[in-house]
Amino acid sequence: MTGKSSQGSRWAVGLLAIAFLVGLTYVAYMASGAPNVGLATTRAASDPATDKPTRTPRPSRTPRPSPTPEVSPVPSPQPLGFKVGIVAGHWQNDVGAMCDDGLQEVSINLDVAARVVAILQYEGYDAELLPEYSEKLPGYEADAFVSIHADACNVPEASGFKVARVAASAIPEEEDRLVTCLIQEYGKATGLNFHRNSITYDMQDYHAFNEIHPQTPAAIIELGFMGADREILTDGAYKVAQGVARGIACFLEGE
Ligand SMILES: [Zn+2]
Repeated sequence: MTGKSSQGSRWAVGLLAIAFLVGLTYVAYMASGAPNVGLATTRAASDPATDKPTRTPRPSRTPRPSPTPEVSPVPSPQPLGFKVGIVAGHWQNDVGAMCDDGLQEVSINLDVAARVVAILQYEGYDAELLPEYSEKLPGYEADAFVSIHADACNVPEASGFKVARVAASAIPEEEDRLVTCLIQEYGKATGLNFHRNSITYDMQDYHAFNEIHPQTPAAIIELGFMGADREILTDGAYKVAQGVARGIACFLEGE
């Protein structure tokens, strides 16, 4: 009797245990496989042909975070696609100023101008590199236009940079702002002094100023002197280029 009844209760406990284990296994399966299953059933639910009503009421699916947060941390400081023309002074025409040891102005100008274009493109601007007498110059339209030159080698004591715009400007306020931005940012980036009183007529009457569209804000910069400022113009070209690029960004972004 006792043996029989205890056997019966063991059966009952055993069945309960099996039912419990099956339940546990099901919950574990749902927990591990829910993302895929959830996705599949969500899709299936919208398809009347494969709709399975038994799966829809499961509440375990909803609290799961969607995979979208993985996409969000992409930094995209893409500005507004301003068009910028950068002239590498003397490039494809002549060598410009020259030092006794053979250092040519054009090589400094081209190095810096190409870096400026690369920086601006990286920042999202539509920048292009132009030779001194580019055939694109007549009527050239852009949001900013900057020609890059360097000063003579044979004035060993002279140091510093110059920035100028065309004397007879059609948009003097805008071009003054471009000049101011270039002076401010270039000075900051390079530590060079601005040669306020040595802006030449040649700079203000620079040939490209008279060829490009009069509404295109333009400036010319003399990066420094190839004698006293040689080190920063060559070894520090990245700083020099940063200064010009930041000056242009300052103007375009209205800083
Ligand atoms: Zn030059």
